[in-house]
Amino acid sequence: VSRKTLRLTRQRAIILEELKRTRTHPTADEVYATVRRRLPRISLGTVYRNLEVLSRLGLVRRLTLGGSPRRYDGTVEDHCHIRCVDCGRVEDVELAASQDEVGALVAYSPFEIIGHHIEFTGICPECAKQG
Ligand SMILES: [Zn+2]
Ligand SMILES: [Zn+2]
Repeated sequence: VSRKTLRLTRQRAIILEELKRTRTHPTADEVYATVRRRLPRISLGTVYRNLEVLSRLGLVRRLTLGGSPRRYDGTVEDHCHIRCVDCGRVEDVELAASQDEVGALVAYSPFEIIGHHIEFTGICPECAKQG
């Protein structure tokens, strides 16, 4: 294994670690700001490319939510999100129904279901305060 490959692997591991540590569903810019504290010389492009690789490998989830920009999630298990339509922040939400029950809702679809993603939209408490 070349020195370059090793370095890239280490960068990728740190990006993954930082993403798993947060629950804020950061954008690539936000991941970059966090990772740069540990890897001062890393570029935004490198962070972005590694995030794409990690999502292709199934190690992180790329969120394609109604709002832009694209966000990343270190939690890859099926779960639901709520997005503030004002500031764009995204949080995990607990559904009253279990994931199995949610899956059963599409029992009669001819599709072979491989996953689901439910997104609620709303106004977060901070934005609601500001009226
Ligand atoms: Zn908000
Ligand atoms: Zn999430």
